[in-house]
Amino acid sequence: MNYPLIDIGANLAHDSFDDDRDEILQRASDAGVARIIVTGSSDESNAKAADLAAAYPGILYATAGVHPHHASDYTDKSDALIRDLVRKDNVVAVGECGLDYFRNFSPREAQLDAFRRQLDIAKDSGLPVFLHQRDAHDDFVEVLEPALPALSRAVAHCFTGEGESLHEYLAMGLYVGITGWICDERRGKHLHDIVSVIPDDRLLIETDAPYLLPRTIEPKPKTRRNEPAYLVEVLKTVAEARGQTIEHVAEITTANAIRFFAIA
Ligand SMILES: [Zn+2]
Repeated sequence: MNYPLIDIGANLAHDSFDDDRDEILQRASDAGVARIIVTGSSDESNAKAADLAAAYPGILYATAGVHPHHASDYTDKSDALIRDLVRKDNVVAVGECGLDYFRNFSPREAQLDAFRRQLDIAKDSGLPVFLHQRDAHDDFVEVLEPALPALSRAVAHCFTGEGESLHEYLAMGLYVGITGWICDERRGKHLHDIVSVIPDDRLLIETDAPYLLPRTIEPKPKTRRNEPAYLVEVLKTVAEARGQTIEHVAEITTANAIRFFAIA
């Protein structure tokens, strides 16, 4: 592979990586995944993600935000912590934030409030926003759309929706992050069919590790834990579904990630 890949979303602060994070990073590097954006999703993981980015400069970067599942815990302290973290050079986006009505772990009102407050931080900081949306499309668009003119850039991370919402997001100017969901021959089939709709300059790839282990990996790993090295599976499947070469998709997704996160 000529183009070093960038995993734009890996939850490396997750405690399932505590025992072997260095080996995980080595395997990523060996697989051609040169840089990883570590997703922050709670007060605790935000601090940990920023610490990881500081410990691996030029390799790891962090986001700072509160996932809609944790929206009930979004306090003034959470808000201040994110505002503090985004001043650091290697904290490169606000999020993940958004709405998740699939499980409703936090009440919808709390989710809407936390989402709006984080969009304000993205506006104030000028950083791009890393967005999560599940089963909440209408409210998500209603909150996001009026905020967009004041935001630098935004990505719908782990997009798993249908063609209609994909077209809507693209019309709104969003980047789209594709995970190993597309490697699932059953629930990812629709994604396989529509991923070519995404223009070359809006496509990003991510693992969402430790979640969403690609089902195409052969032989099947011993554990269900996903890791950034498996970004290559996402790359291959996306390239095949788009009718493009692996090299081309590697080149455009890396260029897009560099531009999106404004990393050199
Ligand atoms: Zn997410």
